Amino acid sequence: MTALASKEEAIDFIQQIRYEYLKRVNQGTATQNDYSKIIDFFRSPHPVNSYQRVFDNTQFPDCDCFLLSSNELQKYVILRLYSYFYSQQDDFKEICPDAQYVIWSTIFPCVESLKKIQQELKSIQVYQKANNYPNSCEFVQFYLHKLAQAYSLMVILENQLGIERYLATTGLKYDIKFIHSLVQDIRRESNGKLKKTKLEFQIQWNLTAISKIIKKLLGEQVLEDSITCNFVKDQERVIFILIDGMGYTQYLWYREGIKSQKNFAYGLNIFEWLSQFNEYNDTLVLGSTLIPDTGSAIASIYSGKLPTTHGIYASNMYDGINSINIKKIDGVNFDKFVENCPDTFLSSLNKTTIKILDGSGSFTKKNKNSFTKFIFGEFPRERIIPQDRLFKKISGTVQNLSNKLLILGYYPLIDNTSHSIGAFTAFESVEYEKLNLIFIDMLIDLAKNQPFVFDGKTTILITADHGMFEISSKKISLYEIKQVFRDEMAIIPFVSINTRSIFLYNIPLDKIKKAKDVLQDFIDRREIIAEIYTKNDEIIQTLLLNSERYGQTPSPDLILIIEDEGIGVSNDIEDALIFHGGHGGSSCEEVFVPLIQIRLTSHLRTEIMNHFAKIS
Ligand SMILES: [Zn+2]
Ligand SMILES: [Zn+2]
Repeated sequence: MTALASKEEAIDFIQQIRYEYLKRVNQGTATQNDYSKIIDFFRSPHPVNSYQRVFDNTQFPDCDCFLLSSNELQKYVILRLYSYFYSQQDDFKEICPDAQYVIWSTIFPCVESLKKIQQELKSIQVYQKANNYPNSCEFVQFYLHKLAQAYSLMVILENQLGIERYLATTGLKYDIKFIHSLVQDIRRESNGKLKKTKLEFQIQWNLTAISKIIKKLLGEQVLEDSITCNFVKDQERVIFILIDGMGYTQYLWYREGIKSQKNFAYGLNIFEWLSQFNEYNDTLVLGSTLIPDTGSAIASIYSGKLPTTHGIYASNMYDGINSINIKKIDGVNFDKFVENCPDTFLSSLNKTTIKILDGSGSFTKKNKNSFTKFIFGEFPRERIIPQDRLFKKISGTVQNLSNKLLILGYYPLIDNTSHSIGAFTAFESVEYEKLNLIFIDMLIDLAKNQPFVFDGKTTILITADHGMFEISSKKISLYEIKQVFRDEMAIIPFVSINTRSIFLYNIPLDKIKKAKDVLQDFIDRREIIAEIYTKNDEIIQTLLLNSERYGQTPSPDLILIIEDEGIGVSNDIEDALIFHGGHGGSSCEEVFVPLIQIRLTSHLRTEIMNHFAKIS
């Protein structure tokens, strides 16, 4: 057995051994007992006892150490580390007790926990009752909770080691890649379990319920269903906050996942704290639109209809000449896509004062039809810039009126940040910390300065348009798709991309079947898991486009919706510039959104005042 000659050699050796153990833990051929003594040795090296001295170089030639059983390997490693400690004590002290000890004792528990989640997902059988909304919500929560735990284990690890999986390259690249692949496996497993349930929610328990809920809360007559029955009907004020991009998985990930990141000023995670009270309910889940993106989802929230009826099936659609963004056009260009404008449920509310606090930053011409007019009608809007002041504005806007009051707040920052830095990363959790802080501030402000709202007649309703998916690789570009069709079918379809869904237009009717096969082959070669539909498929006819759809714009002939890893890009960008978060696909992270209700009662006010009195 040769001695470790230099620091570099020692680090290299320790690293190789770590990779070997990670591999074995993953295969199930090593357990904690097979490596824990190595970790102990890093921190407190001790003379190897006489029994271990028996192992010498004849038994352990260097080249063969990876053939040893996991337990033998542990003895071998300790022996080599001991001789290194004995001959180069200063170097050993530099490398082992701080650096390697921290790395090993952080990484291995994380891997063990991920393996446990992975096994649970594979072995536990949970059944979903047919056509039962509360039970189906529980079913969704069960799997998303496991997934959220996996994502948070990875963030906690990154925080502990001070690294970041996408934005910074580190010496722990292999370890991070390995852990990430475990998380991705858990992601595939959860998505597999929820495949049918996703569509069920999108069909019957979807975003169109929100307008009904708000109407009911404000005392309007609605046809009761399994969702509306969870809400009361005698409210004077409703504060509806739409948090763009906050999927249910991300919500769970933040609510109880990232324990090491609690904010110390107030010492709590507000969602976790609120969940102990009856006034708070975060157990309900909704399904986003088939293409879970802002345009089609918000159109469904405010019109109370599915894209099949309102016409906005995605943010980017084809007008017959170009791919256009529905949120950026107005006048006749906008009218081409929709049946009615405005099409908002707001105009059906009686005796209600409506205040719109819009953090979207987009303001369109008032006299022309546009996306904004479609969703908000003619009601006055206040633009909220900077956007993180939304919650301050909400507490200031609550008034005691003779009319009922509906405040609509739109908060875009969770989505914005997540796009560039990744949906379940340490940096995204910082964006949630900000949300946590300003949300607490709003509650304290209301409790102290607007005590009348805690009269049991005010409900805060929080939901999202869609969730976010995390993307680490696998892009397909518009150019590549066109090239495939030119080469294999001598046609060039029009292609429109919505990040994780891709629409193909202008395919001759008799070529659609062949085109679907060509597209399927292409994504198979790229190892992209996605669903490809034609416009006549039942799902498309139910959730996306109706054949009698109003509008003078063409419908897509093929619709590709990415479920696992993957992103569509309009320009062939380099890998370094890939967006690490996105939506528009069919993962459970994107499809399920929370439906949170907070009833402001005098009891809740007392709790808030008591809890926060010690600091403010
Ligand atoms: Zn959005
Ligand atoms: Zn977005």
